[in-house]
Amino acid sequence: MKIICIGRNYREHAEELNNPIPEKPVFFMKPDTALLQKNNPFFYPGFSKDVQYETEIVLKINRNGKHIEERFAHKYFDEIGIGIDFTARDLQAEQKKKGLPWEIAKAFDGAAPVGKFVSKNRFPDINNLRFSLKINDELRQQGNTADMMFSFDRIIAYVSQFVSLKPGDLIFTGTPSGVGPTKINDHYEVFIEDEMLLSFNVK
Ligand code: MG
Repeated sequence: MKIICIGRNYREHAEELNNPIPEKPVFFMKPDTALLQKNNPFFYPGFSKDVQYETEIVLKINRNGKHIEERFAHKYFDEIGIGIDFTARDLQAEQKKKGLPWEIAKAFDGAAPVGKFVSKNRFPDINNLRFSLKINDELRQQGNTADMMFSFDRIIAYVSQFVSLKPGDLIFTGTPSGVGPTKINDHYEVFIEDEMLLSFNVK
């Protein structure tokens, strides 16, 4: 399986990092070794001094597809979940300055914690979905999918022009504003609406 991540999909987050507003979705990938499941702990990597959380809705692809039309894209996922796109912001800033790829900042082991997946049909409208992150019981980030610049369907249509999708692939759909640093001993609780679907500790 592969993990596809959308960058700069929420206007206020693009602005907080001084990034231009994209005209097309921006995507990058993480390898399967980045996946962190079952609420296992995240180990703070020794190569960064500024690992930051980005809370994101995650789609789980359910069938093979390429060149998917936007109007059919909803058929390619039944389940959604919540995840953290951990980012070594210091390394990313160096790479961005040099115009180099971001992998060392985004693709490292454990950089993609994901929680339990649930049927998208549980929610009346997945394009108007609240999600949030608490660290040590304090609200740190919240968003609503209504604020995405590119919808889930648009993302699937766009990405599948370049990369075939397969069952089990995950798509991180971008983070709202409010990203911030993490530290050892932090306790994460991550929610879609009011349901906690992911929790883990930083070690
Ligand atoms: Mg992200």
